[in-house]
Amino acid sequence: MKSQDIRKKFLEFFESKQHKIVPSASMVLKDDPTLMFVNAGMVPFKEYFLGQRKIVNTRVTDSQKCLRVSGKHNDLEEVGIDTYHHTLFEMLGNWSFGDYFKQEAIAWAWELLTEVYKIDKDILYVTIFEGDESEGLAKDTEAYDMWKDYIAEDRILLGNKKDNFWEMGAQGPCGPCSEIHVDIRSAEEKAKTPGADLVNMDHPQVVEIWNLVFMQFNRKADGSLENLPNQHIDTGMGFERLCMVLQGVQSNYDTDVFTPLIHELESKTGVVYGKSEEIDIALRVISDHVRAVAFAIADGQLPSSTGAGYVIRRILRRAIRYGFTFLNQKEAFIYQLVEVLSHQMGAYFPEITAQKRLVKNVIKEEEASFLRTLGQGLGLLDNVIEATKGKEVSGEKAFELYDTFGFPIDLTALILSEKGYSLNESEFDAALQKQKNRSRAAAEMDMDDWVILKEDDEEEFVGYDYLETQVKITRYRKVTSKKDGELYQLVFNLTPFYPEGGGQVGDRGFLEASNGDVLHIIDTKKENNLIMHIAKDLPKHVTDSFKAVVDAKNRALSNNNHSATHLLHQALRAVLGTHVEQKGSLVNAKYLRFDFSHFSKVTPEQIDEIEEFVNARIREKLELQEFRNIPMQQAIEKGAMALFGEKYGDTVRMIQFGNSKELCGGTHVDNTDAIWYFKISGEGAVAAGVRRIEAITGKVAMDFFLKQDKELVAVKSSLKNAKDPVKAIVSLQDENSALKKEIETLLKEKAKNVKGSLKASIQNIDGINFLSTRIDMNAGAIKDIAHELGGEIDNLFFFAGAENEGKATLTSYIAKNLVEEKGYDAGKIVRELGRLIQGGGGGQKFFATAGGKNPEGLSEAIEKVKEYL
Ligand code: ATP
Ligand code: MG
Repeated sequence: MKSQDIRKKFLEFFESKQHKIVPSASMVLKDDPTLMFVNAGMVPFKEYFLGQRKIVNTRVTDSQKCLRVSGKHNDLEEVGIDTYHHTLFEMLGNWSFGDYFKQEAIAWAWELLTEVYKIDKDILYVTIFEGDESEGLAKDTEAYDMWKDYIAEDRILLGNKKDNFWEMGAQGPCGPCSEIHVDIRSAEEKAKTPGADLVNMDHPQVVEIWNLVFMQFNRKADGSLENLPNQHIDTGMGFERLCMVLQGVQSNYDTDVFTPLIHELESKTGVVYGKSEEIDIALRVISDHVRAVAFAIADGQLPSSTGAGYVIRRILRRAIRYGFTFLNQKEAFIYQLVEVLSHQMGAYFPEITAQKRLVKNVIKEEEASFLRTLGQGLGLLDNVIEATKGKEVSGEKAFELYDTFGFPIDLTALILSEKGYSLNESEFDAALQKQKNRSRAAAEMDMDDWVILKEDDEEEFVGYDYLETQVKITRYRKVTSKKDGELYQLVFNLTPFYPEGGGQVGDRGFLEASNGDVLHIIDTKKENNLIMHIAKDLPKHVTDSFKAVVDAKNRALSNNNHSATHLLHQALRAVLGTHVEQKGSLVNAKYLRFDFSHFSKVTPEQIDEIEEFVNARIREKLELQEFRNIPMQQAIEKGAMALFGEKYGDTVRMIQFGNSKELCGGTHVDNTDAIWYFKISGEGAVAAGVRRIEAITGKVAMDFFLKQDKELVAVKSSLKNAKDPVKAIVSLQDENSALKKEIETLLKEKAKNVKGSLKASIQNIDGINFLSTRIDMNAGAIKDIAHELGGEIDNLFFFAGAENEGKATLTSYIAKNLVEEKGYDAGKIVRELGRLIQGGGGGQKFFATAGGKNPEGLSEAIEKVKEYL
């Protein structure tokens, strides 16, 4: 069965059990402070488990893109080395939100595997949770008894907390789980070792394919467990592993999910898969990593030097390094796989095809720049080796290469061993640990449990219509971090405060108690669908009713910038073309920033055109048309720009100004008139194929123009109120350069004249052409004169004293033949006579200078030189 059909069968099976099929959510998490990437199928549904969002569909099924490269689930180092862990993989899931529980989950999993996919029962094993005394948790006999109906009891194995108690993170929903494993070894091997002994033992052909999680607890901050209000089912089946089983192969890389990529790599690099372990690992690493990187970029996470972007950059670099070392690839090549990937996965994940050009460009650029780094690093490593005494290279030096140049440590170790050197690894590890500790200490955050004051299923946001409402606090908690100290997060029953999201910053404002006490809200954020108001303190009486008031001025400025962002997006597509897609956005009270795909610099003419396009729509006074809670399909029919990779609920909000129609949860002006004016303040590159525009609007634009106006007035007045200041400045500049030229000519003439009169005063003393004199010019000019005279006159003994800008200098020039014949030394002369001008100097025997701070001594020095003859 082809992988496409395997996925389809899964979804259709659960659809036949009344599940709603939903598309994969974006793998990149933009508004979740606890996680960078979706690392399990349950992540997009977290808020349902936490009871923080109203459940619309109680049964859902999907295939979710997951990435396990950081945090609690990190498989990166295994990937490519083994044959069944990937960075990016698809997790097939069926979900019950407070609907069915263990019984159905187990029955349907069994039915699907054995009756639909027709997997031989004799290769299956299941595990159940054995219980854990320290947690006070009993063995999951319920699941055990249910499994007994389907599978022989010697195939039901007990598992400990590590394998059979699933937790999302340090806190949050969790529960016992039951895993399904396959044993796809040959009959011969099975005869040698029973499969039951190999379950959960990291055997590449005895692997877990499906995990059924029975979500029923919540892990609190103090580590204790409490029951969740509802019981849920969360299952996750590794799609690539399932394909391995159903396609009768022994490795995920031999399924049609990977073979097209591997074949492409073989033909591009001329190697063959399956001949050498080193090359095979490289091929697996690259074919795996390109998927992760390509989908991350398509989902909006570009490689960068910090945070989630850095994680993506490191994955790509790992692939480049394997290509560099084991496939001898010294030029960018991985980007070429994007074509195959799009061909193969585009049907189910259209984002990869829609973003193909951008993805390719970004990967190619990253490859080229890392290959340059590798080249530089090799050079630096050579220096390090040269400076190394003995045969062991310092781990600290290797860390420096790793930290500042991104030079991978395993490559360093490899090159060293090829050259007969070793690396002090413990030194390296210590340096790395030290750095990690530093950044951990800076980022550490302690979160107390929520204090629940009032049960509430969903906090209603009323901030589109109101900036003030009466509210009650439903829960709060204290959060302590090094960075911000102690802060409180407050949740209300309803709120006018807009939480940071969709690029727009969170509202600030205040809470007013009935007795007039005021508590400032310094920011508003959203986590798992809870709107959290951030304050430095708690109100005195938390159970009071409060007036919640948004800072209206600040909000109005953000509104301007958010609506202007939509108009800018429209303008970019009109002026530059419809390839323009939003790649990032920031909206606050001061300015807006918009990143978009485009492959060349935006020219000044295009900037003008874009500004005019937006300003024309501001002048048109377009009314805001807001469509709140309309079905996604309807919004798309109305012409809303559908963004891939965005996670939308069943209904969406569409914002329209004239022909600009976008799905958006942000706050906006009622009429574009309010924006007043739109001015682009910057344009530049963010990455290959991604440009950034910054712009200002409204009052900020007005202040900008006023400031410019003031400056212009000042410029004009200093130009004696010239009618055309630009013309006046250009003519001043012309005049200035003409004057400069004139001065240069004059100076040259002067030097010529000086030289002429100097020549005339040369005395011949015993065959030596002697001149000691005062010339008040700068040292450079005197040096030139001395050398010129020396070239024209034989046997020259020249000495000059000069005063220039209050300082004294002495210059001594003696023809080289005199130095040799008579033993004269210009250096000695200026050193000794330098004392007279309270200074010092030196140089060579035939030319030397001294500088000092006493011009009074010059005439004595000029006189005394004679004594050296
Ligand atoms: P394993 O022990 O094999 O690493 P796990 O216990 O980490 O698996 P779960 O967190 O239960 O796995 O995830 C559910 C399913 O997702 C697994 O049964 C497996 O089929 C699949 N899966 C997990 N991690 C990966 C990965 N890195 N690559 C591919 N599939 C994976
Ligand atoms: Mg794992």
